[in-house]
Amino acid sequence: MSVLVVGTMAFDAIETPFGKSDRIIGGAATYIAYSASNFVKPIKQISVVGGDFPQSEMDDLASRGVILEGVQIKKDEKSFFWSGRYHMDMNERDTLDTQLNVLANFEPILPESYQDCEFVMLGNGVPAVQHSVLKQMKNKPKLVIMDTMNFWMETAMEDLEKLLKDVDVLLVNDSEARQLSAQYSIVKAAKEILKMGPKYLVVKKGEHGALLFHEDKVFVAPALPLEEVFDPTGAGDTFAGGFIGHLAKTKDISFENMKTAIIVGSAMASFCVEKFGTTRMKEINAADINSRIKQFVDLVNFEIELV
Ligand code: AMP
Repeated sequence: MSVLVVGTMAFDAIETPFGKSDRIIGGAATYIAYSASNFVKPIKQISVVGGDFPQSEMDDLASRGVILEGVQIKKDEKSFFWSGRYHMDMNERDTLDTQLNVLANFEPILPESYQDCEFVMLGNGVPAVQHSVLKQMKNKPKLVIMDTMNFWMETAMEDLEKLLKDVDVLLVNDSEARQLSAQYSIVKAAKEILKMGPKYLVVKKGEHGALLFHEDKVFVAPALPLEEVFDPTGAGDTFAGGFIGHLAKTKDISFENMKTAIIVGSAMASFCVEKFGTTRMKEINAADINSRIKQFVDLVNFEIELV
């Protein structure tokens, strides 16, 4: 079962209370691909990079079952660049710089060989680009999941609203859900967002876990209590990769299975934050992932007898 992934492949510069990185590899689609490829192959990637993006990174992704035919390389231009700073409360971050570079004029082209994808992950990026990829698909996908962020709500809200009508699942963090709905209560925000198009809404709350909303149902998943969070960059995308990876692997898009997918996504995100950038995602294997998922199951499992 192939999964189509759209999103940025980028350079990031990150500051956390524990350290600072120079330009390291990042980007929403990069993290999604690293995460999802643990569950399903191939991952068919759509993105754009400049001539500065290292071939070795492309080779590493390819070796994990990521097809790069849909990744355009603009030799004379620079890759997307993002820089951010985290504070002690790692749920909050400041964007210091966003340089669109190659992203500014990106027109995605869906290769013919990608038409068989039934699961689509529209990673964070220009809403019109996300929509263009969807419109190029000849068959309606089984499931379309989308991520976005405040930057696009501020610069491309109209396009974002149009796109929302065509997606099944929206993944956002709590502050983005509030901004999108103009509601402070997450429950009220979810009600508003579910009227905008998506049938399912996942609200990520960093170290406080994630919530899944569908019709009048809610599911709450914790985050693993970690002693040290080194760098939260990419945690949301890694979560998305695990979430869609599990759904595509099991080919089951029921609410019940989405609950499991949230646990899988949360387990993957818990690895991502342990080291800077994509470092940890490159180290982990199936045994690490299985034991981390088991830790999650133990974390939430309890028996209660009602009298
Ligand atoms: P996350 O921490 O999961 O929200 O995602 C972090 C990644 O998103 C970084 O690696 C950035 O390169 C990428 N990113 C930051 N801003 C944007 C943006 N406006 N559009 C697309 N990707 C972005």
